[in-house]
Parts: sequence; structure tokens; C-alpha cells
Amino acid sequence: MQTYHTPLDLVRERSPERPVAIARPDAVAVAARWFQDKFKGDVFYAVKANPSPWVIETLAANGVTSFDVASIPEIELVAAHAPGARMAFMHPVKSRRAIASAYFDHGVRAFALDTHDELQKILEATDGADDLTLIVRLAVTTDGAAYSLSGKFGVETHEASALLMATRRATRHRMGVSFHVGSQCMRPTAFQAALAQANRAIVRAGVLVDIVDVGGGFPSIYPGMVPPDMADYVDSIHRGFAEMSVHEGTELWCEPGRALVAEASSILTAVELRKGDALYLNDGSYGSLFDAAHTKWPFPVKLMRAENGEAFEVEGPLRPFRFYGPTCDSLDHMPGPFWLPEDVREGDYVEIGMLGAYGVAMNTRFNGFGDAETVMVSDAPMASMFGLAGRSIRLPREEREEERKVVRLSRPKGAAGKRRRRR
Ligand SMILES: *Cc1c(COP(=O)(O)O)cnc(C)c1O
Repeated sequence: MQTYHTPLDLVRERSPERPVAIARPDAVAVAARWFQDKFKGDVFYAVKANPSPWVIETLAANGVTSFDVASIPEIELVAAHAPGARMAFMHPVKSRRAIASAYFDHGVRAFALDTHDELQKILEATDGADDLTLIVRLAVTTDGAAYSLSGKFGVETHEASALLMATRRATRHRMGVSFHVGSQCMRPTAFQAALAQANRAIVRAGVLVDIVDVGGGFPSIYPGMVPPDMADYVDSIHRGFAEMSVHEGTELWCEPGRALVAEASSILTAVELRKGDALYLNDGSYGSLFDAAHTKWPFPVKLMRAENGEAFEVEGPLRPFRFYGPTCDSLDHMPGPFWLPEDVREGDYVEIGMLGAYGVAMNTRFNGFGDAETVMVSDAPMASMFGLAGRSIRLPREEREEERKVVRLSRPKGAAGKRRRRR
């Protein structure tokens, strides 16, 4: 992988023709160490957020050696890039062959479930193994998250007792509970509330659990979505855990995806055409901009230009733009608004930041595009929850108004919170 100090150096040296994924391993390292330091429990990285080998390797080198995986290819990836890592198979629905291969070929012992049928599958596919860690995924309220993850998985309260009891009876080894408060959770107390809900479920069922897994949902910074301090999130978890009816040895786990990687990648795209306020870029919704298109998240942007062997960042009065990606599909549209200097022109480069989570991971080859190379840089990300850069993103006045509206989300419930939820 080639290394530059900054993306601007890359533009200066070779004006890349295709989109380039910019990797900032230092940002992953800092986030990994932050979680190791502050979270009083075990940190499992949720691989789906960004399965790049450099991410897995950087995490492992910085002490995160546990991984939340959801498929056999993810298990193979972790095994290849973090030999000896511990893995938990946290997808609540798995094929029998995947369960057997995880257990017998890869040494995976922890499995999630949210139904009696899945419990039975796990027991049968592992030949009644007596060293399983079985984690029951609970459905919890997810107010305050920008992406709800509760619609698809998690056993509902009224059915939880029977499943918790059946799971306790089935494991001679360990059992636990998990949940997911929703991705990009803007309200730290959501964790404490979910832990209280989990506690009611285990008390009602009369089971003792060995593991309490608070899932992911730890936020990053995006224009219009500047969350409270990350420390508030772990404090809320530690408070909630302390109030639970669990035994002395009960372990606390978390599964951050987004928070460990969001800052660590951006994409460098080129402007191929401008039509008024629409910029046609060489990357789009089938590349790294899935969220920008489908959930209409705005991402921070920077404009760069190469001229006469020089390259510079273009400054100047900003105006809102929307983006189109390179494929012929009309869904390949990112409404933004993305605030860029008003004289953007063909041949300019736009660095789109904060795409390390669910950005580069979503890349497809549709229509012959999506073949992005990756280069490493060592400058700071566009924003940081971990003190690497400002906590706020440089925005023009109109955007700040928006941001102020949304930041109120982090206060207790309100109609605004409901409106922001997207899926
Ligand atoms: C996606 C996922 C995560 C990571 O969620 P983030 O919001 O990215 O932190 C954690 N656990 C499970 C089970 C997931 O599916």
C-alpha cells in the first residue's frame, strides 16, 4: 500500500484517475486504545463496519483481539489477519454448516441466538458441545439512534423468559444476554436504559448470566450529528451494569463497529462534470457512498485542485451541492447538501470524510466501477471523538443551524428524536 503524508500529496504527485480509499490507521489505533483504557470489559470489534485487512491488523496490534463476526468469510478474514484472535458469532441467524464450521474449524465458542429454533440448531450443529457460550439477543428500545437495528433481531420482552430459561438449561458452560441500541446512538443514557431492560428480563426469567454484552451503537461525528463525549457512553454503561442482578464474575462486553473505524477512512473522488449544483463524481452509492445515498447522511467534504504541478485545497465562499455517482442508475444520487467552494469545476478532487464505517465496506463492482485502490496517510481525520481533530466539523452558517437542531437529540426524548430516525 502506498503511503503519503496527506491526500493533497497524492493529488499533487499523480492526480489519480479512479477513486482512492484513504486509510488512516493512526485513527484506528487511537480509538482502539481509548476503548481498551476506558471500557471496563472486553471489546469485540464488529467486523462488518469495515473488514479491511489493515483495520483488523491495526486493531490487533493495539490490543483489540476479540471480534464480532457474522459469517464464515468474516471468520476467515479475522483468522488470516489476527491469528489467535477470539471470535464471537453474533449473527442471530446462521446456517447449520456455518455454525459447525465456526465451531470445529475455527474454534469459535460464542454464538448469539434469538429463537428456540436457533438454539436447537446451535446445539445440534456442534454435536451437543459442552463448552459453548450462548448469548441471547434481546430486543430493546432504540430511541436516540440514527439507525435502528431492533426491527430484525432480538427476542421481544414477552417471549424472553422462556428463551432465557431454555438457554440456561442448554449450556453447561456460559450464557449471556446482548442487545443493540441502534447504530449512531446520540443519547448515552440509551445504554443504561437498555441494561435496565435486560436486567428486568433476566430477573423475570430467574436466570444468572455470565456475560452482559451491550453491543455496538457508539457514535461518530457527522455534519448535523455531533454526539456527546464518548466518555458519557461508557459511564452510562458502567452505571447500568453496576445496577444489574448479576454474579461477581459476570463479564461485560461491547461490540463497537462504527466508533472504532468511522474516522479512519475517507474517499478521494474526482469531479467529472458539473451541471449547476450537481457534481458528477467517479464514486457513488454503489461505491463508498451507500449511506450518503440511501439514508441521505451528509458527510464532510474538502475540495482540492491540481494545477501546473501544484496542488492546493480550494477555499472560498461555500454553497450547497448534490452529488451523482458514476453508474447509470438514477439511485446513484447523494442529495447532501455538501458544502463546497462555489467555483468547483471538472477535474477537481473532493475528499469525502468519515467514511470508515459502512462506507468502504459497501463497495460493489456494479456497472464496471468500484475498483478503488487504498493508500495510507498520516494526517488527522476531518473530525474525531478521540481528540485527534476538532470535535466539530467546519460548517457554513446554514449547516450550523441544522446542527443545533439535531444536537438537541442528545437531550431526553422529544419529537425531534423520532423525526431523525431513519431505518
Ligand atoms: C452492526 C453490529 C454492531 C456494530 O454496530 P455499530 O453501530 O457500528 O457500533 C455490533 N453488534 C452487532 C450484533 C451488529 O450487528
